[in-house]
Amino acid sequence: FEMSGRISSSVSQLTEEKLKLLDAIERLQELEQQQKQFIGNISHELKTPLTSILAYADLLDLYRDDPELLEEARTRIRKEAQRLYGLVEKALQLSSMDIYEFETHAESIELKPILEEATARLQAKAEQNNITIQSNLTDGKVWADADNLMHMMLNLLDNGIKYNKPGGTVTLTNEVQDQQGVDRMVIRVSDTGIGIPDHARERLFDPFYTVSSDRSRVYGGTGLGLSLVRSLAEKQHGSVHLTETGSGGSTFIITLPMDRPRPEEIRSAEESP
Ligand code: ADP
Repeated sequence: FEMSGRISSSVSQLTEEKLKLLDAIERLQELEQQQKQFIGNISHELKTPLTSILAYADLLDLYRDDPELLEEARTRIRKEAQRLYGLVEKALQLSSMDIYEFETHAESIELKPILEEATARLQAKAEQNNITIQSNLTDGKVWADADNLMHMMLNLLDNGIKYNKPGGTVTLTNEVQDQQGVDRMVIRVSDTGIGIPDHARERLFDPFYTVSSDRSRVYGGTGLGLSLVRSLAEKQHGSVHLTETGSGGSTFIITLPMDRPRPEEIRSAEESP
């Protein structure tokens, strides 16, 4: 009896190990698939602006005697090159994140100066687009990596300016909120722009997702910004959500820990989808 008991417990242990292994294989296959898709997407995205640049470079000769056409070709080349630059930069950030030693960089930092610096950096762009950036900031510390946080803020504010209407505003605020007994810092970026349709909510933070290709052609987007913001927020044991949207504009909310997260908070942040 003892013998058969031992055998059956070894068998069930083996079955359990086998299931774990199968799970791991499945996960690896999924990751491989995602990686292939990422490379496919990025190659496609790189090709589009490059094709334009090459075409306009050829036209420069043809337009030599027409200053107006020449200027238009130059503007388009510059615009496509900028788009290419932004795309490469974001792709590099995304691909380096997995190996990024996040924990060693997180520390207790004052939030307000970072938010002020982010708005200052985008002030010129806002003015060019006839957009006003308003901010109402309060003091307080967060447990985060200053560079990561700056990237997140620049991306959200930049979207608020880019997908806005002339004469519109982008509003930046922050406040401390008690969330289930723990104080968290909530940062809100609101705009009076074109809004995000309901059907886009679910995939909005996926890499390369853009609401419609028409839109990104007009606004020059790559669909990488929000996926970067989400990855960075999660790496800092925080989160990012879209709250309100519609024709009146969009509001994104970032939540961050105010202090070094306790082990149980890290676990529950990792478990949440
Ligand atoms: P992109 O580089 O295209 O801006 P993002 O990942 O930052 O990529 O955004 C994904 C899509 O979400 C964009 O293509 C845009 O259509 C939409 N979007 C993002 N932010 C806003 C916003 N503040 N208002 C309206 N639409 C937005």
